[in-house]
Amino acid sequence: MSSVPRPASPQPATVSPHSNAATAAGRFGAYGGQFVPEVLMPAVLELDRAFEAAWNDPSFHQQLDELSRSYVGRPTPLYRAGRLSDKVGLDVYLKREDLAHTGAHKINNALGQALLALRLGKRRIIAETGAGQHGVATATVCAMLGLDAVVYMGELDIERQAPNVYRMKLLGAEVRPVGSGTRTLKDAVNEAIRDWVSNVDTSHYMLGSAVGPHPYPLMVRQFQSVIGHEARKQVLEMAGRLPDYALACVGGGSNAIGLFHGFIDDPGVQLIGVEAAGRGMELGHHAATLVAGTPGVLHGARSYVLQDQHGQIADTHSISAGLDYPGVGPEHSYLKDSGRARYVAIRDEAALQAFRDLCLLEGIIPALESSHAIAYLPQVAAEAPGALVVVNLSGRGDKDVGSYAKATGEQLAQSVS
Ligand SMILES: *Cc1c(COP(=O)(O)O)cnc(C)c1O
Repeated sequence: MSSVPRPASPQPATVSPHSNAATAAGRFGAYGGQFVPEVLMPAVLELDRAFEAAWNDPSFHQQLDELSRSYVGRPTPLYRAGRLSDKVGLDVYLKREDLAHTGAHKINNALGQALLALRLGKRRIIAETGAGQHGVATATVCAMLGLDAVVYMGELDIERQAPNVYRMKLLGAEVRPVGSGTRTLKDAVNEAIRDWVSNVDTSHYMLGSAVGPHPYPLMVRQFQSVIGHEARKQVLEMAGRLPDYALACVGGGSNAIGLFHGFIDDPGVQLIGVEAAGRGMELGHHAATLVAGTPGVLHGARSYVLQDQHGQIADTHSISAGLDYPGVGPEHSYLKDSGRARYVAIRDEAALQAFRDLCLLEGIIPALESSHAIAYLPQVAAEAPGALVVVNLSGRGDKDVGSYAKATGEQLAQSVS
């Protein structure tokens, strides 16, 4: 789990990463792999085997599908955002992951991994969280299935996502503050990995995004691809055709890869991932890993990384805690290099504006993460006026109203008048 980048070893893809099959040794072209300490190798190999067995077992899918329906609330709706469409000059459909139980897409993955942990006989769950959404999803499914949850969270994120911290505690999880580094998601991942190393026999590490060593990027993608598969079917029913674009915000990349996989074999659908440009594109002021990073190794996989010239992982900034991460899933790195997907970045203030627009135009308070995807729509309209666009609304923004108020100089209690 060293964060020191290693020399590139160019490796051609043996299996098309566009397919749903596992790539050889968990590689997506030159990216991915299992850069883990020896003590964790048995655990990642065991997880790989368990995931493959479960994924090929109809009874696992039966259980997952049933809970996705009756507990998570799937399928989530696809909603044609009429007033937003008029404003930006596009035909915009929102995939409403904000309406999934706990208010974000994270629960799709948390539920899948929790069912897998049960199959492995591991009843102690370790997780990291940034925005708190993965922590809440983890605490939620652990309560429902009777598992113990320990959630690592950076102290800065604890401050800016206080409602989610309290939700996790209400749901019975233990939240462990992380005071090292930038006190954000990357540091929480480091601590979670440390815990996993010490407790690997009893604990499952429930990684919250499509990052980390194989099989996580593949496994998380498969659990999240329900988003894209539903969206494809729904847009065909509602609009009678495939979209011209599919857009999603990218932190670690799980909601984006989940949406993209519904359309990846449709060459007419352009895939756009929207990262956080934060305060601007100087290193240290943003979290736009694919736009501005270089290949390296972080948290067990080779991928694009934000690093300085010595290979030290850079500090990041984004107003949205869920995008504030210096790495990204290896499959996105592959999709960037291959040109199948394109990655752009949106600044804090544009995301805040889009947050407000969606509130006023559609009566939807979006997560600040998802607001980054909404904020890119005018640029899509500039290149393709009137285009049909599916945007993944990855989560709801209740957790962000305090951040919004603070950023705009208001105070929650006073802003009523
Ligand atoms: C965690 C989170 C994200 C970013 O994570 P990805 O793995 O990139 O999807 C985006 N939106 C919301 C609402 C989140 O909670």
